Amino acid sequence: MVSLELNDEEKLIQQVARDFARKEIRPVAAYYDEREEVPYDLIKKAAAVGFGISKQGSLLDGAGSSLIPSIIAEELSWGCAGIALAINSSGLAAAAIAATGTPEQRQQWLAAIASDEHEVRLGAMCLTEPDAGSDVANIQTTATRDGDFYVLNGEKQFITNGGIADVHVVFATEDRSKGWGGISAFVVPKGTPGLQQGTVWKKMGIRASHTANVIFNDCRIPAEYKLGAPAKPGGSAGPGAVGALMTLERTRPVVGAYAVGIARAAYEYALDYAKTRVQFGRPIIKNQGISFMLADMAMAVDSARLMVWRAAWMAGANVPYLQAEGSMAKCYASDVAMKVTVDAVQVLGGQGYMRDHPVEKWVRDAKIFQIFEGTNQIQRLVIGRALEALPPRG
Ligand SMILES: Cc1cc2nc3c(=O)[nH]c(=O)nc-3n(C[C@H](O)[C@H](O)[C@H](O)COP(=O)(O)OP(=O)(O)OC[C@H]3O[C@@H](n4cnc5c(N)ncnc54)[C@H](O)[C@@H]3O)c2cc1C
Repeated sequence: MVSLELNDEEKLIQQVARDFARKEIRPVAAYYDEREEVPYDLIKKAAAVGFGISKQGSLLDGAGSSLIPSIIAEELSWGCAGIALAINSSGLAAAAIAATGTPEQRQQWLAAIASDEHEVRLGAMCLTEPDAGSDVANIQTTATRDGDFYVLNGEKQFITNGGIADVHVVFATEDRSKGWGGISAFVVPKGTPGLQQGTVWKKMGIRASHTANVIFNDCRIPAEYKLGAPAKPGGSAGPGAVGALMTLERTRPVVGAYAVGIARAAYEYALDYAKTRVQFGRPIIKNQGISFMLADMAMAVDSARLMVWRAAWMAGANVPYLQAEGSMAKCYASDVAMKVTVDAVQVLGGQGYMRDHPVEKWVRDAKIFQIFEGTNQIQRLVIGRALEALPPRG
């Protein structure tokens, strides 16, 4: 039987996240957007409430409700997507460690990136490079075995928490001739000689989330920092590439959930405005041209959430996960967020274009969700391939 009723735990977490977004995030969203600062205090406060990687159980070890990460992401992103991403920014690195690390490595490195109410600890997942974005198998960063060490060389681009993270999870090739099979994942702790921050990017949106390049210059790490099976000198590459793919598959519904949060915020704001703004002697919502836009926005937000929840549920229920459902959720929800936020500006007219209202920020924030964790063109490629692989109908 299909049920869309959240269980008691999910409802409680949704309510706590909703309150946190309203009371703690919304009031400072414009401040962090203007200042482009990492909201360290808010990350600690969120950790005290229990957010951050501690609530990502289903993404880390399959424990608990697989809906919870998406529920939290939608609520916090309703408050501000940049701050929400900053609060959950270790999630990708954590998922990569969980997917590829040994039990001992998981214990050590997940603890190293879990913030609490006293201290912010951050993880960064370093996959993208200047010449390897969508074409991620084209990674040029190398990992060369040298006795009991690996030596990393290369540059990673557009890395969330790049250079400020306590732990960088770095994907590097040990053997380029093997393509994906030659790529492994390595942990590089803060302060390791040869780890340098490169360009710190100024962005269109999600400005409370830190984005920078990271340079590895003869960066020497102990061999046991390679994630996965213990590597022997001359042994084969670890499960890094497969781990990366698994990571992105499982986190994709959550990316969609952030987009739903922005879309919902914009839709609600436009609805309230349309009921109170009077032109030609009546609220503008009385015009079909406006009420139909709002009706489309309401349908789009709801359908995007349903796709996100379906993908999250499939991942948790171990229903054969086709990739396509995660890609569909991420792609559709981010396209919805883009359209709904732009339409919300239209509903507000000139006011929508002004920084006095949050709507223009939501347009800027929405755009990234069509780009990172695989652009929407790449998601459509994945979906198209899954469709192609379907058996012919009788
Ligand atoms: C704010 C931000 C944060 C990020 N955080 C991280 C992070 O923490 N870790 C990390 O590893 N990466 C991160 N990224 C990188 C992000 O995942 C990449 O930007 C993204 O995968 C796209 O790669 P690219 O920018 O090189 O674009 P390109 O791959 O150069 O693509 C350019 C355009 O070409 C299109 N395109 C490319 N190939 C095809 C194809 N075969 N068919 C059709 N269209 C195609 C793309 O869809 C896009 O429209 C982040 C990026 C940003 C902007």
